[in-house]
Amino acid sequence: MLQVATRMHRLGTESAFEVLAKAQALAAGGRSVVNLCIGQPDFPPPAHVIEAGQRAIADGHHGYSAAPGILPLRESVAADLQRRFGVEINPSNVTITPGSKVALFFALQMLGEIGSEIIYPNPAYPGYESIIAFSGATPISYPLSESTGFSFDADDVLSRITPKTRAIILNSPANPTSGVLDRGELDRLVAGLERFPDIAIVSDEIYSRIIYDGHPHFSLLSYEQIRDRLILLDGWSKSFSMTGWRLGYAVWPKSLVEHAVKMAINCHSCVNNAAQFAGIAALDGPQDTVQAMVEAWSARREVIVEGLRAMPGVRCTMPAGAFYAFPNISGTGFGSAELQARLLNDEGVALLSGASFGALGEGYVRLSYATSREQIEEALFRMNRFLANNMHISRRSAVA
Ligand code: PLP
Repeated sequence: MLQVATRMHRLGTESAFEVLAKAQALAAGGRSVVNLCIGQPDFPPPAHVIEAGQRAIADGHHGYSAAPGILPLRESVAADLQRRFGVEINPSNVTITPGSKVALFFALQMLGEIGSEIIYPNPAYPGYESIIAFSGATPISYPLSESTGFSFDADDVLSRITPKTRAIILNSPANPTSGVLDRGELDRLVAGLERFPDIAIVSDEIYSRIIYDGHPHFSLLSYEQIRDRLILLDGWSKSFSMTGWRLGYAVWPKSLVEHAVKMAINCHSCVNNAAQFAGIAALDGPQDTVQAMVEAWSARREVIVEGLRAMPGVRCTMPAGAFYAFPNISGTGFGSAELQARLLNDEGVALLSGASFGALGEGYVRLSYATSREQIEEALFRMNRFLANNMHISRRSAVA
């Protein structure tokens, strides 16, 4: 009998990939499936980005590259951050990783250990709790509540700090809520953190280019006073529709760079060489494709939210960023996991239970609207039909 290390039992999973596999199996068996479960743009990457990747292969970039990433790409990242947020970042503080998730994994393994605590949002991207637990640290969650547009209360977060706290994770715009953290609360959090200079801040800004209604993204990089303990995560997956290229980055405080490079050397050696050249083209080239994607999602956001709000027992906040609707379905009488399973089995609609993003996601489901308008309308039609046929039954059993 093989003996697996105890820490493997602390590792969680992402139900998006499990539901996707089930939905694909149903579709392979001939069922009509509408897939709103995966957080992946439905547009191709910009043409000039694909060309840059192809050119890099033709030019012979087949070898290993430097572990932290090629210098021109790290310079492009610094220039992009300067253009967008007016901040001066030294390219030597940037490392390129195979997706921002790998930088998240490195950051939490660097900071967490048995006996320590890391604070993270709930509901949130499932990787946070899972990777914190894997590091040995205890995950301590803070709530994101619908009543504040899924922002947070700075005092509440500060009150969760103990002498064991190593880091606080922030994510804005957020998965799965599509909320944007309130600027005033962030100011108060950063002011409060002055009393705790040893606590790192991990700011996951992977949806930084996907914000609606013309609001600019506010980056935690803007707070000069926490730059020496801020780990910023971003990447190309969502903004440039490059999920499968596996390209992300982190900006590290100077004191952590050597650890980030050591993690890379021990883990993936370096990121796919051609993908890094494509990453330069994405940041340096025209941004009109990104703009067009965000405009398309903004229009679909209106369709999906309006459709959800018209359903009995459902209410839904308007997403401020990212591309997820996160409706409150508690009025339907169904639990989140039950609704997820029934909609997939009975109607072929693949969405995710809010509870798979943490206990406070119970009562919600997540629908990705990074899919065509036709698919969104079909999903809404099937959900309406399901609720019309079943809600009276769920309500009776909820009362009984
Ligand atoms: N962070 C958040 C909040 C996400 O939603 C995702 C992907 O869904 C990631 C990080 C990981 O993105 P990637 O590793 O593709 O850069």
